[in-house]
Amino acid sequence: MREINLHFKTLKGGFVIGLVANNDFSSRALYELLNIFSESHGNQLEINRVQVVTMELKELIRLYVKRYGSLVPQINKLNKKISDLPCCERFLLLESEPESTKDKLAFEALLMVCNGLKSEGDDYIGNDVFSKQIEAYSMFSPRSDIRTVIGEKNKRKRKCRFCSKSVSDGARFQSVAHAIPEALGNKNIILAEECDECNSFFGDHIEPSLIEFLNIYRVTLGIKGKDGYPKVKYENGVAQFDGKHINIASRDIDEDENGNLAIKLKSNNKFIPIAFYKALCKIALSVIDKGELVNLDKTIEWLLELEHSTVELPKIGMFINHSGYSGHPKIIVMARKDDSCLSPHIVCEFRVGCYVYAFIVPFSNKDTLKYLGDEQMNVFFDMFPQFAQNNGWVYTSFDSVLEIKPTYNVKINNSESSPYKKFQQVPAAHLV
Ligand SMILES: [Zn+2]
Repeated sequence: MREINLHFKTLKGGFVIGLVANNDFSSRALYELLNIFSESHGNQLEINRVQVVTMELKELIRLYVKRYGSLVPQINKLNKKISDLPCCERFLLLESEPESTKDKLAFEALLMVCNGLKSEGDDYIGNDVFSKQIEAYSMFSPRSDIRTVIGEKNKRKRKCRFCSKSVSDGARFQSVAHAIPEALGNKNIILAEECDECNSFFGDHIEPSLIEFLNIYRVTLGIKGKDGYPKVKYENGVAQFDGKHINIASRDIDEDENGNLAIKLKSNNKFIPIAFYKALCKIALSVIDKGELVNLDKTIEWLLELEHSTVELPKIGMFINHSGYSGHPKIIVMARKDDSCLSPHIVCEFRVGCYVYAFIVPFSNKDTLKYLGDEQMNVFFDMFPQFAQNNGWVYTSFDSVLEIKPTYNVKINNSESSPYKKFQQVPAAHLV
């Protein structure tokens, strides 16, 4: 008897086909299936790990399922799955599920590379620094391109991650809580373990500052939110993406003799730096393994405080990744596995479009340092050199509790190669 589980890893996720060969018929079915995806070396079949979707493959699968489907029912879904894949897309075929996070990430990276979505060496995979991190940290990164629900699916059994209330304590779980605000383009990552009260508290108190800070990027990157393409009104103008063009209109536009434009946009909304920091941490705590939360009770208390209190926090790193663009906002949370080193317990990377933020979640019981000042930040960079200043990251404080109305400066170069050709200047007189 031979049993095999074939893992099909596709860009949209994947599926498993399990086959047991316990008689002549099923043995032949198994042999033929392997034959479709393999090369023969003498009398040995070797499965090609990277497969390409072709019309020929779809036809082979269709005929194969027609032949064996009635007697080996588990193969029936194969035809639907393969025929749904777009032609030319690459997928991976593995004989077992990758066991470690490192292997899993390596396969995901391989899938991206062979589909031309990432270039080789683009990632830290395979590099010594990265293996040190993988050794010391567990990683949580929910897929953002497919629907991912985090936590207990059954509403009656749910317990809120933040206030710890369950249905029997009076908590309600009626609204859909997005782990990352929907306004930033996240439709897919849903947190089941966030009660309605906490959801509206975060929505009122901390998330507006995150959305405000990223508003101008949402326009320039064309990130769709709850209400479609973004249109942001400013005190002195408006910025809008209409699906094709970015239109910015302002009463404060300066043009120099070379036709370069400097545009000032004064926000109508308030921005509180510490609320921005809290909103990022809330995203991290939404996707992290629940087991880590016992050490983050002080962080949760800080997120839920009614008035922002003054406290010194680590600086947040910002980086513009010109070669990578992620259409869906993406969060990667790394949690230190043991207490043998002084690097931070929880470290996160948050991506929106080509903007990347690196931050430490403060107040963990597992941290002995506060990561304030250069010396302590260097402990962090020793473990995570990819976030260090010498790699182009700029670190800024977001611990002020004062409300500000930010002014954004948009510069548009009048050059042939400028990506901002898309901008259209609207005369100030057209503004309402
Ligand atoms: Zn709650």
